[in-house]
Amino acid sequence: MDSVMPQTSDEISAWVSDQALRLEDKVIAWRRDIHQNPELAYQETRTAALVAKHLTALGYEVKTGVGVTGVVGVLKGGKPGPVVALRADMDALPVEEKVDLPFASKAKAEWMGQMAPVMHACGHDAHVAILMGVAEILAAYRADLTGTVKLLFQPAEEGSGDDRPGGAQLMIEDGAMANPTPAAVFGLHVTSAIPTSVIALRPGGLMASADRLRIEVQGRQTHGSMPWRGVDPVVTSAQIILALQTIVSRQVDPTVTPSVISISTIHGGVRHNILPDTVAMEGTIRTHDEAVRADLWRRIEKTAGSIAEAAGATAAVKVFEGVPVTYNDPTLTSWGTASLGRGVGADRVGQSPPAMGAEDFSLLAQVVPGMFYFLGVTPPDEDASQAPANHSPLFHIHEPALKYGVRSLAYLAIDYLRRG
Ligand SMILES: [Zn+2]
Ligand SMILES: [Zn+2]
Repeated sequence: MDSVMPQTSDEISAWVSDQALRLEDKVIAWRRDIHQNPELAYQETRTAALVAKHLTALGYEVKTGVGVTGVVGVLKGGKPGPVVALRADMDALPVEEKVDLPFASKAKAEWMGQMAPVMHACGHDAHVAILMGVAEILAAYRADLTGTVKLLFQPAEEGSGDDRPGGAQLMIEDGAMANPTPAAVFGLHVTSAIPTSVIALRPGGLMASADRLRIEVQGRQTHGSMPWRGVDPVVTSAQIILALQTIVSRQVDPTVTPSVISISTIHGGVRHNILPDTVAMEGTIRTHDEAVRADLWRRIEKTAGSIAEAAGATAAVKVFEGVPVTYNDPTLTSWGTASLGRGVGADRVGQSPPAMGAEDFSLLAQVVPGMFYFLGVTPPDEDASQAPANHSPLFHIHEPALKYGVRSLAYLAIDYLRRG
């Protein structure tokens, strides 16, 4: 078998493409099975068992229970070389599926103490199926593989729903990025915003950092008719909310990075004629630059604090540090963009704008250089700009797109190891 294996990058690309086509039905079947049996964060036991069984059968060295329900598969190639990691996330979301499919999810599971409908509304079912397909191609290429491949099947990308950190962090803490430590990590995310067969990425910040913000404004309760007898936290909160918007629009250089501060919840008071003691609000902070991120935290604290002080109130500002910017290492991404072009055709690889969503792949890419990219899954005859977004109960995947995910990741891994 060795003698007939492809050797040049053109031959390898054509071979990987053939393999992806050969595996297409299998990958789609896996995806449908996982779609119909979605599992929430840290409950991905069925999915993990499916993955572990597949990897073991292919000859991978398999570790389960990494970061609660994560699976790590290691495949040593026939020739010496570096180590490369590929990552797929496995968790579904508490969303009720509204897509009319024979394999639509009817699953329910416990989420934050209550039973909730469960759906693969972010497409992680596709990620698992794609990486299972890639695993099979790499196993077939094993004798010629110049190095080692490490596959990371990660739980809880969307966060835990309890006080546990997300899956990437727990996998790292459990040693997933050590023994062996990869020289680079690659991953992809399906998106309905671009059409099938199109891949998009950018060097530097691809996806935003995401931090949760909580502000408690402490006033002094009084009668609604006599605000001067107390300190009104409601009007003070209104001023804070509006002033926070001027941080992004008036104080931060918009040419460095897009940033967003949103106050999304506000709670205070119980009755129309009582000004309450306190008002609490929560929101999210997003940006693509770590220096700007730290600057936003400082400015939010100063703005809220100063406005509260002017009103005679106090504002307790707490930022719950979330995931960092998903940062595509520029050198790796310059090479990787060309490699994706060789793998799936340069005309299929485009530049992505910075996305305001967040990804905990960013944590893996803080350990070693990383590259993350988007894979389009909207059929060419549908307007991608109008397609239901990831996390929508109507989010759906055009399955012919999956083979481009398989092709791109399998080729990237082989090509990365070949370059030594
Ligand atoms: Zn998501
Ligand atoms: Zn996702």
